[in-house]
Amino acid sequence: MKWNGIPLFHVEAFSRDFSGRLYFFLGQGLGDHVNGFRVLHEVMSRFPEAILVVYADLRWEELVRKIEGIEIRWYQKAMDVLSKTGTNNPYDLAYRELRKDVASFPGHVFLAYSHFPMPDRQARNETTLESTARSIGLVLRETARPFLPVLPSDLEWAQKYLIKHGLEKKCYAIIAPYSWPNKIWGKENFQKLIDEIREKWGFRTIVVSYPEIGLFDNKGAVCAFDLTLGQISGLMSFAGLYVGLDSGPSQMAASFHLPMVVIFIENRTTPFEVRPLSPRALYVVESFFSDVPAPGVRTVCDAVAFLDSLSKNDDEVLCPVCHRGMNYVVESKIGMVRLMRACGLSVDMELERTSHPDDTPPSVPLKDSCTLLLDSERDLGTFDRVSHFKENLERMMPDSFGVLLEKSKNPIKEAGRLKWSIDSLVTLMQAEKCNLTGCRVLSGKIHLFFEKNSSPRKKEKRVELSWGKTLLSVSSTRYLRWYTYEMWGTPESLVGIVKAQAELGLDPRERLICAWVAFRAEKKLRSFRWLVKSAYSALLGK
Ligand SMILES: [Zn+2]
Repeated sequence: MKWNGIPLFHVEAFSRDFSGRLYFFLGQGLGDHVNGFRVLHEVMSRFPEAILVVYADLRWEELVRKIEGIEIRWYQKAMDVLSKTGTNNPYDLAYRELRKDVASFPGHVFLAYSHFPMPDRQARNETTLESTARSIGLVLRETARPFLPVLPSDLEWAQKYLIKHGLEKKCYAIIAPYSWPNKIWGKENFQKLIDEIREKWGFRTIVVSYPEIGLFDNKGAVCAFDLTLGQISGLMSFAGLYVGLDSGPSQMAASFHLPMVVIFIENRTTPFEVRPLSPRALYVVESFFSDVPAPGVRTVCDAVAFLDSLSKNDDEVLCPVCHRGMNYVVESKIGMVRLMRACGLSVDMELERTSHPDDTPPSVPLKDSCTLLLDSERDLGTFDRVSHFKENLERMMPDSFGVLLEKSKNPIKEAGRLKWSIDSLVTLMQAEKCNLTGCRVLSGKIHLFFEKNSSPRKKEKRVELSWGKTLLSVSSTRYLRWYTYEMWGTPESLVGIVKAQAELGLDPRERLICAWVAFRAEKKLRSFRWLVKSAYSALLGK
């Protein structure tokens, strides 16, 4: 496979003694680096003879130099969060050098890491790390998380630091409140959180940040400003809890076995694509699914409490459809949290805590939360009902049937109650061999129609499907392949799918169909340009 004409490496295509040159273009940010390190680390251990050329950002020099056995090249200075100077595209020169090398030694030089995630990544709810790794044939399972090089000297330094400040291993929290203005949660909010963490768990907090944020005068808090990345890593490795933002330190924290809560503010990025991958993380995305501008302090505190009860019992709440963790916190109220999977299925869970009647937040109107309405006999409202439905589908349902999703303001009140989304429902039905055959939206209610065991040879009908704020006109198979991220989807991301297909040179006919879907969903100049480009490629067959 090629990416923009540059030959891509593929881990299945070469044997262990491959001794050519592999290029790694790490993204600009700190988080991009530690995610890129994962792929670098995995490739390095599989191909010990390969020469690894790594383009990196000078701001993270300290981390990059800790990785042995690589040839480091530095990008031009990138945009910086503190000084706000530098270039936004440091890659151009680097790609030119790579192309030259490819031309001089064909068959020996490959690109192994850059921003080339697979175009079906959103449909699979993957992070950029997972889907980029998949582009070179690397399947990350339990190693699907950032990789952070930590030296013994970092740990020694941290141990001394803890003694100096009277902190005990595993009994303190770390917060990292600093980021770009569009991603910050606010110092005051963090201060309330620090106090609550201390009151409820007896944890003191280390604030990892820059002096620009100002001192935190909370009782017991330690301001650890201007530490090196190694020192921060050392402190993280002994911490009992981490709370941070969609930023580099959270990606660092994800490489440790550390319970963590990550707060997402900016509604522009899709949280599941950039989330710090860790089996012990909860992601607070309250502002994505309600009218609040940012998650409330109460919600974040409840997320911490819920995470604590999960960690204590070594427990996880799994989606009854895909059996993956429901780790998005959408809302919290009266002693309960609403958890969601990336597929949009959510469930209300009890916190097992004494509620604070005096600081219950004002109730916020929820957007588009869905109840599944079958009749009471076949209701899919609880985990038990879902397994009952799966076992008895044959008997319970006629060959074709409709399901009603009601978009309603659906307050938290009943523990264990499931709320369905289009994607979770379509995925459940597909697993039970029921194809989506139609969709109708009537006064806020979405009717989805399914057909049991329909013959695979039968030509599939296109369905006009309600998708975010727009409509998609697609077949069921194509929907499942590319578009099952309805809860998070924007029309621009539909063009992104076509762009990724083009860059990776995937099937031009499929690309044209996806370009048509994107154009119909949003008729804009950008989607039109990609439609024309794709039609041209399909015509030439490349
Ligand atoms: Zn699921």
